[in-house]
Amino acid sequence: MDTAKIDQAAHEKAELLKRYRQLLKACKSTLEKGDKELIRKAFDMALEAHKDMRRKSGEPYIYHPIAVAKIAAEEIGLGTTSVVCALLHDVVEDTYITLPTIKKQFGAKVASIIDGLTKISASVFNEQTNSLQAENFRKMLLTLGDDVRVIILKLADRLHNMRTLESMSRNTQLKIASETLYIYAPLANRLGLYAIKTELEDLSIKFTESKQYKLVLGKLHETKQERDKFIKNFIDDLDKKLQSLGLKYKIIGRPKSIYSIMKKMQKQQIPFEEVYDLFAIRIIVDSPLEMEKADSFQIYGLLTENYTLNPARYRDWITHPKSNGYESLHTTVLSNDNKWVEIQIRTSRMDDIAEKGYAAHWKYKEAGVKTDSGLEDWLSKVRETLENPESNALDFIDDFQLNFMGEEVFVFTPKGSLKKLSQHATALDFAYDVHSDVGNHCIGAKVNNKLVPLSYKLQNGDTIEILTSQKQKPNEDWLNFVVTGKARSKIKYYLKEEIHKVAEEGEESIKRRFRNSGIEMTNEDIEKLVKHFDLKTSMDFFYLVGKGSIDNTTLNLKKTLAEKPRQTTEDKSQDKARENAEKAKHKNLVRPDTIIIGENDTDLDYTLGSCCAPIPGDDIFAFVTVGEGIKIHRTNCKNAPKMMATYGYRVLKARWSKGGAVSEKSFLTNISIVGTDSVGIVQGITDIISKQMQVNMKSISIDTVDGRFEGSISLYIYDTNHLDDIIQKISDLDGIYEVTRNS
Ligand code: MN
Repeated sequence: MDTAKIDQAAHEKAELLKRYRQLLKACKSTLEKGDKELIRKAFDMALEAHKDMRRKSGEPYIYHPIAVAKIAAEEIGLGTTSVVCALLHDVVEDTYITLPTIKKQFGAKVASIIDGLTKISASVFNEQTNSLQAENFRKMLLTLGDDVRVIILKLADRLHNMRTLESMSRNTQLKIASETLYIYAPLANRLGLYAIKTELEDLSIKFTESKQYKLVLGKLHETKQERDKFIKNFIDDLDKKLQSLGLKYKIIGRPKSIYSIMKKMQKQQIPFEEVYDLFAIRIIVDSPLEMEKADSFQIYGLLTENYTLNPARYRDWITHPKSNGYESLHTTVLSNDNKWVEIQIRTSRMDDIAEKGYAAHWKYKEAGVKTDSGLEDWLSKVRETLENPESNALDFIDDFQLNFMGEEVFVFTPKGSLKKLSQHATALDFAYDVHSDVGNHCIGAKVNNKLVPLSYKLQNGDTIEILTSQKQKPNEDWLNFVVTGKARSKIKYYLKEEIHKVAEEGEESIKRRFRNSGIEMTNEDIEKLVKHFDLKTSMDFFYLVGKGSIDNTTLNLKKTLAEKPRQTTEDKSQDKARENAEKAKHKNLVRPDTIIIGENDTDLDYTLGSCCAPIPGDDIFAFVTVGEGIKIHRTNCKNAPKMMATYGYRVLKARWSKGGAVSEKSFLTNISIVGTDSVGIVQGITDIISKQMQVNMKSISIDTVDGRFEGSISLYIYDTNHLDDIIQKISDLDGIYEVTRNS
C-alpha cells in the first residue's frame, strides 16, 4: 500500500469509530442492561459483512447502516431492537449472511423485521429499474400488517439515501426523488413523522424542481434577517402577555418548509413576497395530563383577548386529533404591524408525538397515558384493506393514496357522532361508510338540513343525514366521484354482479335464437360473433345481448355466421403500428431531432406531453406509453411523480440536443398575465409579443373583473430563454402584477 492509501485507511478507521460512538450516544436514553452488547454484536456483524463494499459516493458502505440506525434512535426515538435491525438492514440482501444466521444470533423478532425490510427492497435498488414499482410498493404496505417498525426503518433508510442522493446519476436522482414525494413522504405523514416527512419533501423537490427550489431558498436567505427580527419582536410581545397566566411554557418561531412555501405559491399563483406564513409561532406548554386541554384553551383565550383572530384558520386537533395522532390547536392572529401569523398551541407531550410520531405515541401509551389519537384505528383500517387487496396493484396504490395518506375531513352523523373520512369524500362516500346497504340505496343527502346531491364534497363540521330508497341501485357514474376505497369496491362489486346477471340472461336469449334458427351453437360460432361486433370476450357479447344493445335488428344470425371472419382489432392495430413506423421514418427525415432519448439514441420518435408542454431548456424525461409511443414531460410535470414512482421502468432519460436544429423549431406554450385593467394594456402586451419579439400567438383571452384583468395567451416560442425574455418584457409594462408560465 502506498502512503496515501494508508492515510485514507487510518482516516476511515477513526471516522468509523467516531460515527459508532455517536450512534451509541443517540441510543443512550433507551439502553437497558445487555443492549449495548447487542448493538455491538450487530455492528460487528454488519462491519464484517459489508467489509469491502463502498457506496456510490466512495465512502465505506458501513457508514450507511450506521446512519440509518442513528436516524432510528435519534430522530424517531426507536429502541434497541430497531437499532439492531437498522444496522443489519442490508446484510441479507447484499451479503453472504442469511436469515437463519440472523435468527440464531439475534432472535425471531429481529429476523422477521429484517425479512420484511429485505422483501421490500428486493428490487428497489435494482440498477435496471432503480425504482420502487407498484407491486413492490404493495408488498411494502403488506408489511404494515406485521410490524410497523419495518416501514419506519424503511423510511429511515430512505431518508439517509435522500440525504446522500447528490452522488447518484441525474436519472436515478429523479426517480428516487419522485418516488419519495409520491409514496414515502405521505407515508411518513400518516405515521405522524412530521419532521421526516418535511425533510423528505424538501430533499425531493431539490432534485425534481431544482430551479424553483433554489429561487425560494435564495429568497428565504435574503429575507432572513428581517424575518428573524419580526419573529423576535412578536415573541417578546406575546411572552409578556402569556406570563400573566402563570403557566410553564416556551415559545419558538419555526420556519415553514420550502416545499410548503412552493406549493402555496403554485396553488395560489402568487410570488414569494405574497406568501405570508413563511413561519409559524409555536407555544409549547408543560402541563400535567389532566390539565392539557384546559391549559391549551386558556392560552387560546388569552390570544382572543389580545389579538384579532382569523376565524377561517382555526383548527382544533386537540378535541379531535388527526388519525395519525397529531394533536394541536392552530389559529392565525394579526400582529401589531398588520401581518398574519400562524400560532400553534400544544403541550410538550403533543409536541413530542407531532415530531416523532408513532414511536413517541407508543412510548406514552406504554407509560400508561391514555390518548385518543386514532392512530390505532388507522392501522386497523389499513390492515383490513390489506386483507382483501384489489387485484390490480396500481388501483391499489391510488386507493391507498386517497384513503390512507391524504388529509381528512371531520363530519357528524345526525346523532352527533364524529366520522373521519378522506379529504374530498362525498355524501355518497359517507353513506357507504355508514353501511354498504345505505350506500347502495342512497338517493341524496341533507347536509346541515339542506338537500345536496350524492356528489356533494363534505366540509369539516358538516352534519349529514343520508336519504335512501329501496328502488335505488348503484350505477357506473358513481365511480366518477366517490373517493373512498370502501365505496369504490362496494360499487364495483355490485356492478360486476349486475353484469354477470345481465350476461347470463343474454346467453340464455342467444341460445334460444340458435335453437329457433335450427343451428347448433358451437364455441366457434360465438367466437365469430364476438369478432363481428369487435368485442373482446363472450361475456361482453352476452352482456350487450342481455342489455338489449344487440338484438334482432342488429344481428342477423344466419347471415353473420355465413360471413367471412372480419379483421380483428388486433390485426388492425398491428397494421397501424407498421404504418406509424413508416411514417415515423419519414418524419425523422424532415424533422430536426431536438431531443436525445436514453444514453445517446437520437432515432426514437416522440411527442410532447400536452399536460406540461415542455420547451427547450426545460428539465425533461421520456415516458414510454401504452399505444401512444414515447412522450416527453417536464420533470416538474404534475403527473411526473406518479409516472416515475409507479412505472419507473418505463421512464427514460431525455435531454434537449444542442445545436442549430433546435432554434428552427418553435414550441407552443401558455402564459398567464395578471394586472390592472388600464387603457391600452392589451395593446401593450400584443405589441411586445407580435411586433417586438415577432412571436406567433395561437390564442389570447382576457377577462376583466372589477378593474383587475387576467389574461391567458398561447404562443410559439423557441426555448426557455426566449420565454423568460418575453415574460420579463411583459412584466415591465405598467400595471402588470404578474406573468407566469402555466404548468
Ligand atoms: Mn439501505
